[in-house]
Amino acid sequence: MSNDNKTPSEAWGIGTKLIHAGAEPDPSTGAIMTPIFQTSTYVQAAPGKHKGFEYARSQNPTRKALEEALAIIENGKFGLAFSSGVAATDAVIKLLQSGDEVIAANDMYGGTYRLFTKVFERFGIRFHYVDMHNADNIKNYINSNTKLIWTETPTNPLMNIVDLAAVAAIAKQHKILLAVDNTFASPYLQTPLDLGADIVMHSVTKYLGGHSDVIQGCLVMNDAGLREKLYFIQKSCGAVPGPMDCFLVLRGIKTLHVRMQRHCENGAKIAHWLRQHPKVSKVYWPGFEDHPNHTIAKKQMRDFGGMLSFALKDDSVENAMRVLSSTKLFSLAESLGGVESLINHPASMTHASIPREERMKNGLTDSLMRLSVGIEDADDLIEDLKQAIG
Ligand SMILES: *Cc1c(COP(=O)(O)O)cnc(C)c1O
Repeated sequence: MSNDNKTPSEAWGIGTKLIHAGAEPDPSTGAIMTPIFQTSTYVQAAPGKHKGFEYARSQNPTRKALEEALAIIENGKFGLAFSSGVAATDAVIKLLQSGDEVIAANDMYGGTYRLFTKVFERFGIRFHYVDMHNADNIKNYINSNTKLIWTETPTNPLMNIVDLAAVAAIAKQHKILLAVDNTFASPYLQTPLDLGADIVMHSVTKYLGGHSDVIQGCLVMNDAGLREKLYFIQKSCGAVPGPMDCFLVLRGIKTLHVRMQRHCENGAKIAHWLRQHPKVSKVYWPGFEDHPNHTIAKKQMRDFGGMLSFALKDDSVENAMRVLSSTKLFSLAESLGGVESLINHPASMTHASIPREERMKNGLTDSLMRLSVGIEDADDLIEDLKQAIG
């Protein structure tokens, strides 16, 4: 291997992949970091005679480097970057046509649910929302129109785990595409393509970007035909990220493994601390041995991540508000996966559009709070929760 031409090796560990994937020195200068190609078009030597780049909605070198990196770290062949996570999801649904049916998880990210119900149902696509806790539940909804299964694990905010290998086996048997939203786990913890998924989707905004400074999404896949279709949608619909954002994500992913290790360590410490707190009624975290799908989490994930939720014994909105307004290190905000710790209140924030009765039925109680545990010192984070819970 020559010094200036790194060929990614499948044998590399995740840390080496994260740092070297897609990172070729710039051929014109040797710059070790991929430049931000802030351009809309490319000069052609003669009509149709160009260097593979025609117009920046279709191709951009910074985006190309990132897409290669995303493919490698998800153990896939092809990556496509989008202007947001929902734009990436939108592209997948545009593979379908009126009359097609989708089986989706019943506790998905709210924005995905909104896109499906409020936008795509109007175009004649039918969605079934299924509890995928037990993969066999999916079978009841499969018919000849079923074209796609959409799932997410761990889920938001109750940290349910879906058995991806089991869902993939059902999808394969019935020749249905399986797309997995891998945002919560990140490729450090879980690589769904290895478990049989056809498409991995990320809100890159979260752990991949990692620094709360970019909105971006991506898709990763192995099948060249599927890549062609999705690339066609990407350039035809135009939800592409700008080169500056691609650069920031290229930078972010270099430290994903180091950040995730600390997210996991801190998450475990806080989950255990909260669980013994006298005012806490329940902690949702897949690392507990009595979590309903702990064995599956252990099988398909490298570790348990920094996302967790907890509810209070005095289960009232007022009591949650008291805690939410008292934390000093945990900032009250939507989103997740950044280096700084965040706290939110699903009942009044991310899941406010769900009627209370339905929300309560699904375990989204009034005092439930979700933490995105950052990479600060765990002791300081625990101290902050201690004074806030009181
Ligand atoms: C944030 C998020 C999305 C949507 O991504 P955006 O980048 O906000 O468009 C999708 N799925 C999950 C699990 C998310 O957390």
